[in-house]
Amino acid sequence: MTNVSTQGSTQGAAQAIISRDNTYVEHTYARFPIALVKGQGARCWAADGKEYIDLTSGIGVNSLGFCDPEWTSAVYAQLTTLQHTSNLYYTEPCTTLAEALCTRSGMKKAFFGNSGAEANEGAIKAARKWGHVHHGPSCHNIITLKQSFHGRTLTTLAATGQEQFHKEFDPFPTGFSYAEPNDITSLESMIDENTCAVMIEFVQGEGGVRALTQGYAKAVDELCARRGILLIDDEVQTGIGRTGKLFAYEHYGVMPDIVTCAKGLGGGLPIGAILFGEKTKGTLQPGEHASTFGANPAVCAGALAVLNRLNEDGLRQVNLTAQTIRTGLTDIIRRYSGMTRDIGGLGLMIGVSLPMVSAKDAVNVGIKHGVLTLTAHDRLRLLPPLTITPDETADALNRIEKAARSFR
Ligand SMILES: *Cc1c(COP(=O)(O)O)cnc(C)c1O
Repeated sequence: MTNVSTQGSTQGAAQAIISRDNTYVEHTYARFPIALVKGQGARCWAADGKEYIDLTSGIGVNSLGFCDPEWTSAVYAQLTTLQHTSNLYYTEPCTTLAEALCTRSGMKKAFFGNSGAEANEGAIKAARKWGHVHHGPSCHNIITLKQSFHGRTLTTLAATGQEQFHKEFDPFPTGFSYAEPNDITSLESMIDENTCAVMIEFVQGEGGVRALTQGYAKAVDELCARRGILLIDDEVQTGIGRTGKLFAYEHYGVMPDIVTCAKGLGGGLPIGAILFGEKTKGTLQPGEHASTFGANPAVCAGALAVLNRLNEDGLRQVNLTAQTIRTGLTDIIRRYSGMTRDIGGLGLMIGVSLPMVSAKDAVNVGIKHGVLTLTAHDRLRLLPPLTITPDETADALNRIEKAARSFR
């Protein structure tokens, strides 16, 4: 057992943090009444001393769990050597990360920013410019899918195919329309001479952890190729090993023209990347796109530590763990409800519609039993650290079982 001191942790210490936060932080999040102070691997500790197994990874961010020693020393070594320069100069970590991402994805060029929304925003700019250059100035429309999620900036919100996000923030940038997922005729009927791209998540994350069908994904790829338009693949949640392959598109045997990633890439530090394929590389020229913090050397060093761990062995482990958790969950649901449930998503991106209990109630009961989980729409969502150990996994399933018992 890792020796973690929770000395000085009290209910009072937790309450003090929570009440000051309530006073001074603009509450755009419905926070749980937990103040986390420390983490190691898949375990973390709250200010009141309580231990949790974390099956959220900071929403798919802490790929290697909390404070992984290799990741921490890579970041620290870079921080104490050269913590930031502008993008007017070359730096090795940026170069090496771009090379690693391109080599392992088959994409040709990388651009670095700081978040998923920023990566998608840049991808949308690139697709529009590509449309202008190749098909004329009115070719700038992008079709996305219903139940998609692409970010919180005005343009990525406009790209998001969920009505609930479109309230009270209008006017939005125009040029987006939304097709029915897994329905190729819906998409085909919407493409016209002003369409420059289709943008999809292979597994819709915030939309409920719903994987596109194999046949549909293949048909989208073929349709885009036939109509001479771009396929943009938002891998902000699915990318960097989360689904058991480095990128989700590898499961589908398709090759997108632009791939965005963020969340899990940095292992806990902010980074977003746009990867450009053969057709789109060189679209954005000097002066056309930038990000002051983008390609920060320490952040890139951390991302390289993440990629290095997600080698063949690392990805094999992700798939083994995914199998254990999926089987465990199916068993628990069957034993406590008598019902069989398909566990949705891919790899360690797990979503399940629970019988008899809402996802939100399930998360709250999980907290009582020391396990942190998420919701996605109507579903319970698990995004465990990709390096969660067999012991931590067994402990997590035990705690989930105890939580399930309380619903019987
Ligand atoms: C989280 C997410 C985003 C937004 O990423 P941020 O880093 O929060 O801006 C975009 N697309 C998908 C698929 C996501 O899951």
